[in-house]
Amino acid sequence: MAKWAMVIDVSRCTGCYCCFTACKDEYWDNDYPPYSAAQPRHGQFWMDLVKKERGTYPWVKVAYIPVLCMQCDNAPCVKAAKNGAVYKRPDGIVIIDPEKAVGQRQIVDACPYHVIFWNEEKQLPQKCTFCVHMLAKGKIPKCVQVCPSGALVFGDLDDPKSDVSKIVASKKTEALNHGRKTKPRVYYLGLPKLFIAGSVVFGDVDECAEGARVTLTGQSTGKSIETLTNNFGDFEFDGLGAGEYSVKFECKGYKAKTVNVDLKTDKHLGVVNLARVRS
Ligand code: SF4
Ligand code: SF4
Repeated sequence: MAKWAMVIDVSRCTGCYCCFTACKDEYWDNDYPPYSAAQPRHGQFWMDLVKKERGTYPWVKVAYIPVLCMQCDNAPCVKAAKNGAVYKRPDGIVIIDPEKAVGQRQIVDACPYHVIFWNEEKQLPQKCTFCVHMLAKGKIPKCVQVCPSGALVFGDLDDPKSDVSKIVASKKTEALNHGRKTKPRVYYLGLPKLFIAGSVVFGDVDECAEGARVTLTGQSTGKSIETLTNNFGDFEFDGLGAGEYSVKFECKGYKAKTVNVDLKTDKHLGVVNLARVRS
């Protein structure tokens, strides 16, 4: 028996909305009994994209986070349903029975990920099914089929040779938000963390300091990482956790400089001026 799972690599997602559109195309006006009733044209996004803007001018980044039903192993929606209207299949997929769930609005409120939508016309809670009707025909979910950048990986966790198994075994994945409590079957890579960035300038000539060494040291861990400024004098350390850091700037012929940062949100240090060493 397969154990279906998905890995979403946020760092690969370009926000093209192909997955979003393909999902709408597959489910709008289409019934797939006994798994799902037709999705309305508006208001439901079984595969959604959450846009996360990071930083402030002049250093702004955007991440797109695909969000869908996490097919939780410990699913609050299953517990909230009456008459077995929401159930978990042996292959791990959580199904909202489109007949038994009629009138059960409490199922919508039970999901901590807010990925169940209320169909007012049908009085029905609805969500992603991992395209279970396609799996039965040996196909993978529509969103995964159409993703042009390989950000969505789908497969069998029980098959150690599957890509999802290998990625999950690498222990680099993490759950989204409340996930760990509900044991999701959707795993994430590259979820946005915090960054420290800035621009280094040779103060004596007011020019971009290309090739300056920048060393970031975590105050609590003592661990350091290094980078060099680019030809605009810019540098960036991304994927950081909150905490206190020191950032040291060094370049031959200039006085070293250290800036301390208490990192709580993404931080651009602005222009860091290096002073010439007087001989
Ligand atoms: S993400 Fe929400 S809808 Fe999906 S299984 Fe978990 S609790 Fe249920
Ligand atoms: S299709 Fe792929 S790249 Fe495009 S938005 Fe969806 S996950 Fe991102």
